[in-house]
Amino acid sequence: MTATAIRPGRSADAPSDGALPVAGPATTRRAAGRLIRRDGRAFALMLALNALAAAAGVAGPWLLGRIVDTVRAGGGVRAVDRLALVILVCGLAQLLLARYARYVGHRFGERTVARVREQYVERALALPAAVVERAGTGDLTARGTSDVASVARSLRDAVPEVCVATAQALFLLGAVVVLDPRLGLCGLLVFSGVFAVRWYLRRAHGAYLAEGAATSALAELLAATAEGARTVEALGLQESRAAAGERAVERCRRTRTRTLFLRSVLLPAVDVAYVLPVAGVLLAGGALHGRGGISLGVVIAAALYLRQLSDPLATVLFWAEQLQSSGAAFARVEGLGEARRTAETAAVAHLPHPAPESAAPALPADDRIEVTGVHYAYGAGAGGGSREPAARRDVLRGVDLTVRPGERLAVVGPSGAGKSTLGRLLAGIDAPRSGSVTVGRVPVTALDPAALRRQVVLVTQEHHVFLGTLRDNLQIAAPGAGDAALCAALAAVGAEWAAELPAGLDTELGDGGHRPDGSQSQQLALARVVLADPHTVILDEATALLDPRTARHTERALAAVLTDRTVIAIAHRLHTAHDADRVAVMEEGRLTELGTHDALVAADGAYAALWRSWHS
Ligand code: ATP
Repeated sequence: MTATAIRPGRSADAPSDGALPVAGPATTRRAAGRLIRRDGRAFALMLALNALAAAAGVAGPWLLGRIVDTVRAGGGVRAVDRLALVILVCGLAQLLLARYARYVGHRFGERTVARVREQYVERALALPAAVVERAGTGDLTARGTSDVASVARSLRDAVPEVCVATAQALFLLGAVVVLDPRLGLCGLLVFSGVFAVRWYLRRAHGAYLAEGAATSALAELLAATAEGARTVEALGLQESRAAAGERAVERCRRTRTRTLFLRSVLLPAVDVAYVLPVAGVLLAGGALHGRGGISLGVVIAAALYLRQLSDPLATVLFWAEQLQSSGAAFARVEGLGEARRTAETAAVAHLPHPAPESAAPALPADDRIEVTGVHYAYGAGAGGGSREPAARRDVLRGVDLTVRPGERLAVVGPSGAGKSTLGRLLAGIDAPRSGSVTVGRVPVTALDPAALRRQVVLVTQEHHVFLGTLRDNLQIAAPGAGDAALCAALAAVGAEWAAELPAGLDTELGDGGHRPDGSQSQQLALARVVLADPHTVILDEATALLDPRTARHTERALAAVLTDRTVIAIAHRLHTAHDADRVAVMEEGRLTELGTHDALVAADGAYAALWRSWHS
């Protein structure tokens, strides 16, 4: 992705259709399985240590029971001391093993979280710009921050704690069954809580997904309003934005109340389930002991085991809540992979007929760009036009155009004619609703970002500087480029200031580091174009927002960048058109005239009228 592909197209009021997908349960499970397998040894070690710790833990109550029976049978102090010493050793072993298991678990969690984060960033960067624009940065940010943080909390804390607690619970129940199977049956009363848990789990996933979506929508709305604050102010949209904000907050409140309700039913029901087995063992054990069928020590040990059961079960339930919400969060994080696949499928759906047998997109045969019968409507999505409401009107209507390698083509026309939209389609940012845009007979949207930026790059007035070093900012366009290539690219665009930076290519840019001004940022964007080395550059208002002195600077840098490349210039000043090899005139989404400047002036059509009015 190039920085120049980011442009301020979305207004504060633009609807956020095309929200990012959420991974289904099976995909989420598979992804979780993959994460565990990648650090399988640590995970297995954590389980083994937990089992050992739990085994050491069950010895205590059993030995206590033995002490009671020994005392009742008239055993001496020495026997009791011996048993007490064994209890102490077992307790110590349990403590150490559980600590070590937690340590291994936390390390497993940290490593896995790092992988989730890295994968998220990689996937977010690989997303086509159009998908990001349609989804909105709010959703992307919410998934990358609160959702990843929720997954991290689970991996770091919940998974190790749940493993410890599950092992303890299983060993405690097993110990009661071994002591006396009849008392073991009482222990099963704890599973009465399962009904409440099942009731909760059936509802919780959807409820937490809804809560996450509402949080994202609120973040998206706030981000869009802040981004478009000037537009909001200029158009007097404050009230409607405030009303939309209130609706989003209300939706957040409703979804959170729902999850709170689910918790408030679950927790008391589960508390009751903890008490039932202890009461059962005391009643049944008392009756059996009264008839001489069981020793008092066994009853005490079983009651102690079942009393202890509440701790691990409470831990499991406490974290089950966290695991539920982080499961939903993980589904949203994994949804990013689906977004990439969906975009690729949509792009492949636009391959010219007959469709190639293999899914791997072919490489362009040459540098010729062809636009054939292109229709495009914002919000319709690639290939989705037929399913979309008719209200989504086409802003490009049957555009045909061939751009010859090496030529300079100027695209002119009145505001709103569709020039920038055509530029976005030519750069592969959006796919046409119907028709095709190809380079060397391959649809531009079927090329992966790395292949695409070697073909076509769009340069707009937006010149983004990423947080990181100057080197990071440049290597976005050419990940493997060495220092010599980076410096040559900076020199080519006249960025002499870069050589004077304190740490050279390692200088941090942005807050806390060097803050490039408008012209320097534009030069960085152009240096990236030099590094990407595409055969075609599309210029859309590349210098429109710069002051005249900066614009002159930038135009000099541009001239260096454009040499020996095909140039498609969306022209707002007609002198660009005058100097171009051919001029394409767009009106209301149609390409109405195409020819040299002289021929179009002689034809006395729309271009001639534009030229006369601009000239006068
Ligand atoms: P200008 O010279 O003013 O930039 P243009 O010829 O480049 O205009 P486009 O920006 O391509 O025209 O816009 C064509 C049509 O598409 C316009 O009606 C515009 O309102 C609409 N449009 C542009 N961007 C979006 C968007 N992100 N969402 C919805 N509609 C859009």
